[in-house]
Amino acid sequence: MPNAFQKMTDSELSAQLADLDRQADSLRVLGLKLDMARGRPSPEQTALSRPMLDLLGSDSDLDDQGVAADNYGAPDGLPSARALAAELVGVEPSHVIVNGSSSLNLMHDVVCNAYTHGIGGNKPWCAQGPIKFLCPAPGYDRHFTVTARYGIQNVPVPMRTDGPDMDVVRRYVEEDASVKGIWCVPKYANPTGVTYSDEVVRAFAHLKPAAPDFRIFWDNAYVVHTFKGEGDELMNVFDALAEAGSVDLVYEFASTAKVTFPGSGMAWVSASAADLAELRQAFSSMRVCPEKISQLAHVRFLRDAAGVHAHMARHAELIAPRFALVQEKLSRGLGKLDCATWTDPNGGYFVSFEGPEGSAKEVVSLAAELGVKLTPAGAPWPYGEDPRDTNIRIAPTYPSLDELSQALDVFVVAVKLVSARLAAAERA
Ligand code: PMP
Repeated sequence: MPNAFQKMTDSELSAQLADLDRQADSLRVLGLKLDMARGRPSPEQTALSRPMLDLLGSDSDLDDQGVAADNYGAPDGLPSARALAAELVGVEPSHVIVNGSSSLNLMHDVVCNAYTHGIGGNKPWCAQGPIKFLCPAPGYDRHFTVTARYGIQNVPVPMRTDGPDMDVVRRYVEEDASVKGIWCVPKYANPTGVTYSDEVVRAFAHLKPAAPDFRIFWDNAYVVHTFKGEGDELMNVFDALAEAGSVDLVYEFASTAKVTFPGSGMAWVSASAADLAELRQAFSSMRVCPEKISQLAHVRFLRDAAGVHAHMARHAELIAPRFALVQEKLSRGLGKLDCATWTDPNGGYFVSFEGPEGSAKEVVSLAAELGVKLTPAGAPWPYGEDPRDTNIRIAPTYPSLDELSQALDVFVVAVKLVSARLAAAERA
């Protein structure tokens, strides 16, 4: 369907272009320096967790269920930390290793271990010739960077409104033994905000991979990050596996990065007993035990899943108005022009924006010229290659509401100007 610019007469379009150029010039002279590029909590959000810093002092009891947090030991993490992590993702504590402060770090180490040592007694991935990973796209750029770094071929898979296109996933996974994994963000996906439907979760659990060392990397980074209404329900992937009679298929990851302090939270991995035993052995060669002081602070502060949900409700109070502003500004600025669509998620950290074909790189660069930094166009695709150059990831959490409002005004003008320029170029 043609958009509003494409429908204009030549003289209407040139008048629009002149007007939008003027609007862009008036924004340029403001010398703005705004950032909507990365999914960071705002300073107000991280401040919510500052009281955690007061909970451990030099006279604190550092015992957790008989484990001394101030010494080596408990390589799978403090008992209370494992219990909290397990409750948040709905598994048994014995199926969780809490380790380190970054889930991405864990994902990297799991890929690295498979690459150098193999999974389940199979040859290491590095000794199997060219191998592939499936990358639902748009997706999380840092996932794709991990596998690309090991020379694993990242293969894009279309994302739908209920999760990845499972017909495509099934064909690759069940017919091609060089496919070793898939990156998934099953709840409030980065960047689409999509939560996988039960049907998609069940389809994952029913996969019959051609490769015995294929694994699903289930990054449940936004499991508790609802900011609107009741939030989305995600089926528990391990329940789906039990239903399907499948084992040794999923590594699930999560962290408190965007619950407490990014970079200083606690991260965990859950998997089948056999897969977890293999990871335990791999981790034991990397460190004696994880950072249990930080784990202790987290469990004393957050306590249990109810405590986490109460804390996330306070994050939601700060985040929800920002996401509402994105919807309001985009609807008001672009709603009637038929040149763009965008997601309206109930949680997570992003809005995924689709502009006209061939527009995204130019919008990002024009916005930068006007003082607004956006995630580089194409970043949510393997190798940074958005085949249609349409997608832009909007990260509204970090700026203040005033800054965000200005940044969105700039974004809207940039989208309109680039869309008008494209419409004019089509006629030239
Ligand atoms: N997974 C996803 C999907 C993310 O969006 C992020 C952070 N942006 C991470 C993982 C990183 O988490 P961590 O800080 O625990 O490594």
